[in-house]
Amino acid sequence: MKYDVVVVGGGPAGSVTARFAAEAGAKVLIVDRRPEIGIPVLCGEGISQRIDGWGMLEGTDWIASKMDGAKIFSPDDTLVTLSKEMAGNETGYVVYRDRFDKELARQAGKAGAKLLLRTEAVGLKKKGGKITGVEVRQDNDSFCIDADIVVAADGVESQIGKWAGIKTTLKPSDLETCFQYTLSNVDYESDYCEFYLGKNRAPGGYIWSFPKGNGMFNVGIGILASLSTPGLPKKLIDQFIQKHPIYKNGTPVRVLSGAVPVAKPIETVVDNLLLVGDSARHSDPITGGGLTTSLEGGKIAGEIIGQAVDKQQFNKEILQPYETGWKKTFGQKLLRNYLVKEIMLDFDDKTLNMLADSLKNYKFEEFSTLSLVKALVLKHPTLLMKLKPLMKLSEKKGK
Ligand SMILES: Cc1cc2nc3c(=O)[nH]c(=O)nc-3n(C[C@H](O)[C@H](O)[C@H](O)COP(=O)(O)OP(=O)(O)OC[C@H]3O[C@@H](n4cnc5c(N)ncnc54)[C@H](O)[C@@H]3O)c2cc1C
Repeated sequence: MKYDVVVVGGGPAGSVTARFAAEAGAKVLIVDRRPEIGIPVLCGEGISQRIDGWGMLEGTDWIASKMDGAKIFSPDDTLVTLSKEMAGNETGYVVYRDRFDKELARQAGKAGAKLLLRTEAVGLKKKGGKITGVEVRQDNDSFCIDADIVVAADGVESQIGKWAGIKTTLKPSDLETCFQYTLSNVDYESDYCEFYLGKNRAPGGYIWSFPKGNGMFNVGIGILASLSTPGLPKKLIDQFIQKHPIYKNGTPVRVLSGAVPVAKPIETVVDNLLLVGDSARHSDPITGGGLTTSLEGGKIAGEIIGQAVDKQQFNKEILQPYETGWKKTFGQKLLRNYLVKEIMLDFDDKTLNMLADSLKNYKFEEFSTLSLVKALVLKHPTLLMKLKPLMKLSEKKGK
């Protein structure tokens, strides 16, 4: 088998990379070890409505509900609200992640990319030190797929980057361990995503509740691995649900556990191999959300790969504009939010309550984490002093 590009992983980052590379004329193959794209769902399923302008998904059957904003509850339940008035419209979607991923894979297929399921990459194929493809296992068969370019889109547990010599190991303080229930029969109508903070509730993370409509809610928790112990995420989310006047009566119809990188982004291009999405540690260090950056980064990667295939040049120099591109688009935001995460970790519950109290009637200029961080820097310049230089840069870029 010989392709221009082999993409390992058919999640959002892999499918979008494959689509844009194929649209640019490359012969692309995606391999995924799962038997079905998007299954099992390992996600809170919240995404910003910014994706509407990107034209990457057709139809609406992947949308479960539209959000009007976010409600953030401090440890003593002081409420800070970011609402749709700031965005001028709805602010986000809760999606059906299985359908979302399938729609992105469908778009990749429509552009000409091929997809092999139940096919696991087990190593890189090299010749004279140069990567020439991937070794895969499918059922009881092992074979090689030759490719000029290899894309690591293999998610949080990525091995491909490691095989190529990139330091991808995550420190426990750069990884959130998560547990989530999808509850049905919840007697509550809401168009707001809710976030609950507090060292006792979710050390180094938060509890979320994302409404899917029709009495369904994703209620989950993320805890920093360095502050967690085996079983703690489940124990704390169970406690939260049991004590909650509304969620305690819900019927769980899905349960999942998983992990999200909350790390600094890493090197993403080595010779003729590049990393996208969670494997590139592109998820937001504050929220753990990685869907928008998987889409944005995947598009940049696909377009640059298309140019490389067109020129028949497959080296670091020709692929490096991918790294320059994502750094320009969202790299500053990831670095800033990593710093915010580090600063926030030192805040005790009393400080979080004080911060929430100072923002409870604040008129945010827009619906974004930047707007929230800006308000905090304005109100508490000494507490968040380290952020000031970064804020100026990101304000210029409007991120
Ligand atoms: C509990 C939880 C809640 C989350 N909630 C949100 C949220 O609400 N909003 C948000 O934006 N983000 C959320 N995220 C993060 C989001 O899910 C990820 O950022 C996103 O899935 C990254 O996409 P990806 O394509 O990089 O990786 P993935 O979606 O993980 O896809 C990787 C693919 O690679 C395949 N694969 C892996 N290794 C191999 C191999 N060796 N061979 C072949 N195939 C392989 C896997 O089967 C998988 O299909 C959440 C994550 C978790 C765990």
